[in-house]
Amino acid sequence: MFKNLKFVFLFICIILFCLTACDKNSGYSNNGDINTQDYTKEEIKEEKEEQDIEDEKEEELIKEETEKEIVEIDYNKVKPNELGHIMIIMYHGLVEDNPPSPYQRTIEGFKKDLKYLYDNGYRTISMRDYIDNNISVEAGCTPVIITFDDGITTSFSLIEENGELKPTPNSAVDIMNKFYEEHPDFGRNAVFYINGDNDPFAGAGTLKERLQYLVDNGYEVSNHTYSHAHLSKLSADEIQEQVGKVDNMIKELLPNYTLDSFSYPFGERPKEELRHLIEKGVYEGKEYNYKIALREGPSGPFVPINHIKFDPYNVPRVRGSEGEEGDLWWYLDYYDKHPNYRYISDGNPNRISIPKEQENNINQTSLGDKELFVYTIEE
Ligand SMILES: [Zn+2]
Repeated sequence: MFKNLKFVFLFICIILFCLTACDKNSGYSNNGDINTQDYTKEEIKEEKEEQDIEDEKEEELIKEETEKEIVEIDYNKVKPNELGHIMIIMYHGLVEDNPPSPYQRTIEGFKKDLKYLYDNGYRTISMRDYIDNNISVEAGCTPVIITFDDGITTSFSLIEENGELKPTPNSAVDIMNKFYEEHPDFGRNAVFYINGDNDPFAGAGTLKERLQYLVDNGYEVSNHTYSHAHLSKLSADEIQEQVGKVDNMIKELLPNYTLDSFSYPFGERPKEELRHLIEKGVYEGKEYNYKIALREGPSGPFVPINHIKFDPYNVPRVRGSEGEEGDLWWYLDYYDKHPNYRYISDGNPNRISIPKEQENNINQTSLGDKELFVYTIEE
């Protein structure tokens, strides 16, 4: 009831704000005569001050409401586990039918994946939010990250229709856009790892227009080496060329864009002594930096960045497929049977909530300014 009253008050504030705004407009007459002379400077100043106070009140109300929502989860009911698994799903292209390998997914299969994920409480997050540990999916939900390698046309491409560029029907982006329209709380997030030598997302538009479409619509773009290289066979210079060339290419096309995740072609890492060249290197005088790098397969547990087992340059992914053990549908079934392994959000990006039994798995230094909250379930 109290909450409702607050909303009524907020509503009245908004109405008052609108009315005041309308009043101000009526100070200008249609014939161009300026009636603002009717207002003295003092009056305008007073009005502005009043407005500022109103705005502040409004802001405070909204802040209170948000804080209230965040604080009020029932830990016994939601059972947040913010050290649980976050799957990163790896797709390549989509096909009509008969995928040539478990790396491809059918159009229907991809739609089925999205629906299952949504219906079972998974919500997409961006790679940036994953890296920044800024996870804001609603309380009780499990974040999931969708990725596409190789810049394949069926993952994303544009067609021109009536002079306008739009995603190719039944490309993964087109499917995700439509799914998002119907289920906005699923989020619209996916990362596209591209090469430089194969005309990424071949179709209509320039490469700049294609990349711009992705980032303008909430998707992310990043680096998969220039020519889909076998990094384990390359020298230090060759690795930096492979990584740096695509880094420079994307930054040239998207000037203010930050790249921070990398995907190893074939899931293959450089020789051990050269692995640091993924994190940081230089090519043609320009430095690149990556905070995490992804494998092609479940090379380890899908732990989030606050977990002691999180290994930033060896981050596992699961194939978006239902074919074999260790593929997406195997994991979905596994998490269905063992929900306590899933990351369950507390709904508050600033607080990391973990059950008591996870206490020894927290990497304290990774927490930054996040608050750690350890709770015990009351039986
Ligand atoms: Zn690849």
